Amino acid sequence: MGTDNAFAELGLASDATEREVKAAWRRLASQWHPDRNGSADAVARMQRINQAFEAIRNAGFPARPAPAPADDAEPAPAAAEDADEPRRRPIHRKVKLTLEEAAAGSIKSLRGRMTLACATCDGAGHQVLGGNCALCGGSGAVAKRSFFGWPGGMSECVACHGGGIAQRSCPDCEGAGTQTRAYQVKVRIPPGVRHGDLLHVDGRRARANPPPADLELRVELLAHPFFELDDDGTLRCEMPVDGFAWIANRTIQLPTLAGLRSLALRRDRLTYRLPGEGYPNGRSGARGDQVVTVQPVFPEQLSADQEILLDQLIASSSGHGAAAPDERLRAWHRGLRAWERGLDARDRRTAQG
Ligand SMILES: [Zn+2]
Ligand SMILES: [Zn+2]
Repeated sequence: MGTDNAFAELGLASDATEREVKAAWRRLASQWHPDRNGSADAVARMQRINQAFEAIRNAGFPARPAPAPADDAEPAPAAAEDADEPRRRPIHRKVKLTLEEAAAGSIKSLRGRMTLACATCDGAGHQVLGGNCALCGGSGAVAKRSFFGWPGGMSECVACHGGGIAQRSCPDCEGAGTQTRAYQVKVRIPPGVRHGDLLHVDGRRARANPPPADLELRVELLAHPFFELDDDGTLRCEMPVDGFAWIANRTIQLPTLAGLRSLALRRDRLTYRLPGEGYPNGRSGARGDQVVTVQPVFPEQLSADQEILLDQLIASSSGHGAAAPDERLRAWHRGLRAWERGLDARDRRTAQG
């Protein structure tokens, strides 16, 4: 078969590359294989496909025509085979961050595995050697033998998978057609990312074990045990505090994104605003506030000692020995006594009437 006819038989232009020739042959061989194709001319067609492939292979695969070089241009260095292929679609992954990591920015090392078509055999699982398959002589089919040795029809040749051309199992993927590749990238996550943000990572920047494509990372902020984040960067936190410590205006330790800090409680106040202790906002990086709401907690059951101490406290603030009785309480008690006297006088009038 002449090579022009051979290319036509495979449905290719006469400058098709080795890769295109092999792909066309694989496609046609699987389409016309007599085991899968019941039409009368399947066997003949299969043989022509195989002959066409051999004819092209024997003549040498055409090289991709080189672009005309400019006069003073140096010869271009040989590019990697797939350098000008479009990049694969990005790999979508989640990246989970604690609120502290997300607020401060962090570097995350991501590992993963990708299953790809084997580059050595182009995903076929075998490599075409050329020449007729030794087992079937090029027909792609071998005679089945029944149990008693009678001819029992044809079956696909196992050595060439029905293609008729000598081939061998791909040594790099052991015939699977796929390769699993581990990758690892270090990703710098800027401070202040929000839940649902998308981060694009250029896979080509990874040094060792680069991913086979870029990464598209969706940020997932992990729920925090103490904090809730508002859209404006305000960080909210509710915490129980000892009721007596609250009454006593004591200083407590409270959590912030930067760690523990102290806060002086005030018994006239339940909510405290800590400016700039919240979450970074967008590109400005200005931090929101942290808003702390305290819940004073008192014991449900008081110990005998606590009862005595509380009695002393009450006496000291409103009893006869109070050092500085509160004017609000004194006014209330004056009013209460006047009201009580008024009731007594009315009762007496009622009794006399
Ligand atoms: Zn064979
Ligand atoms: Zn392979």
